[in-house]
Amino acid sequence: MEGVTFKVQGSGIEPYEVKFLRSSKSGLSAYCSCPAGENGMTCKHRLSILDGNQENIVSSNGADVKIVQSWLFGTDIEKILLKMRHLEAEVEKVKNELSSTKKALAKAMRA
Ligand SMILES: [Zn+2]
Repeated sequence: MEGVTFKVQGSGIEPYEVKFLRSSKSGLSAYCSCPAGENGMTCKHRLSILDGNQENIVSSNGADVKIVQSWLFGTDIEKILLKMRHLEAEVEKVKNELSSTKKALAKAMRA
């Protein structure tokens, strides 16, 4: 099985280990040694690398982010990530709409 492991500087003293494995079954799996990752939750360390970000990588293989991104294509992770990004954009839209509605309410109350 092909794999790439990065050391990523997070909020802890020691860098976290972020590992991506390419498998014929699921296409791609991703692990992180941060507290969220170890508890089976999603974390920014893996998302950041899947987004092509090398910023917090402290190992010398930062350029391998491109390899990991090429593994993402056509996987369930890619589909779910796209859905998540879409929902995040929707949330942002609703937040802005709520904010301007509150302003309109305040204005109407002063009239
Ligand atoms: Zn993590």
